[in-house]
Amino acid sequence: MKCALVTGGSRGIGRAVCIKLAELGYHVLINYKGNEAAAQETLEGVTATGSTGELLQFNVGDAAEVQQVLGGWVENHKDQFIEVLVNNAGIREDSLMFWMNDTQWNNVVNISLNGFFNVTKQVLNNMLLKRNGRIINMVSLSGLKGLPGQTNYSAAKAGVIGATKALAQEVAKRGVTVNAIAPGYIKTDMTAELNEKELAAQVPMNRFGTPEEVAGAVAFFVSRAAGYITGEVLNINGGLHT
Ligand code: NAP
Repeated sequence: MKCALVTGGSRGIGRAVCIKLAELGYHVLINYKGNEAAAQETLEGVTATGSTGELLQFNVGDAAEVQQVLGGWVENHKDQFIEVLVNNAGIREDSLMFWMNDTQWNNVVNISLNGFFNVTKQVLNNMLLKRNGRIINMVSLSGLKGLPGQTNYSAAKAGVIGATKALAQEVAKRGVTVNAIAPGYIKTDMTAELNEKELAAQVPMNRFGTPEEVAGAVAFFVSRAAGYITGEVLNINGGLHT
């Protein structure tokens, strides 16, 4: 059975990615941190496509928990293989640097950057052994351009972009590609409290993107057509920044 793991699959972009991968025939491992009801809704969306899935609860920022839950899953499912990993879980805790406290800095860096490391470590070995794998990291325009009020988030996402490029070169010979997607403003819980009207006016397409528009790019990166693309960052931002 070909499996895909999506971190932060319970809501927003992660949910749309889970459903898209299910449409492509993957058995989807839906990771979430705490919102089980939302994760169940994603699972319903996955099974509605005719595919299968299961929930996997762990905090991507907690290395011991990732080792226990995800490492345990890998250990207990030797007949299954996680061929696609989408490192999507992320949070933002915005503040100007002047007022930012240690917790805000550490939380955001830990979940995005250390989360990438903790989760990828658990699935990379099998990808290398099978000489087949696709890793897609959800970064952000903020990690490319830098956004005021987001030094923590910009640093974490820029870190993941660097790691994407380095890992891509390490594993290319083994048939594993590593790419990143950098969304601009996408309509999810994460952007719910932003002033959409005002911010959309700055976007050349004059609107926020949808989670499904991001999921479409994930589908491209996992496809055979993208087999020679690695170490890339794809912007999905309605022309906001190129
Ligand atoms: P969202 O709607 O806030 O959903 C966040 C998801 O991440 C939820 O499934 C949540 O699980 C999960 N999550 C949070 N912390 C976690 C942790 N420690 N361990 C495991 N899962 C965790 O976010 P989104 O807008 O879909 O964003 C998805 C990704 O895209 C993030 O990496 C974000 O930085 C990036 N991004 C988003 C935008 C945007 O405009 N929305 C733009 C650029 C980049 P629970 O449901 O259990 O809380």
